[in-house]
Amino acid sequence: MGGVPTKHHSKSKVGRRRSQLALKKRDLVKCKQCGGPSFSHRACIQCGFYPAGKSVAPKAEKKAKEAKQEIAEKNAQEELETTSEEKNSEEKKEKKEE
Ligand SMILES: [Zn+2]
Repeated sequence: MGGVPTKHHSKSKVGRRRSQLALKKRDLVKCKQCGGPSFSHRACIQCGFYPAGKSVAPKAEKKAKEAKQEIAEKNAQEELETTSEEKNSEEKKEKKEE
């Protein structure tokens, strides 16, 4: 089942294919805080600085916030349900008293 070459690849063909394999240099930007080299649109490698106003909350924090919101919504719904149940029970008591 091993790959058996069905056709000869010339040196130029192989060279053309491999011409795309090399890693390209990435442009480095000066960090505004420490002045060290860092990638643009990434937190600084040395100090972890990211320009203010452009930062986005990490995914973990986002998830925690969403979870908190869900819990708050659930609690609010439960409160509504309990209040409505209490009202119903009060109404029933009044009817019994009559
Ligand atoms: Zn930095």
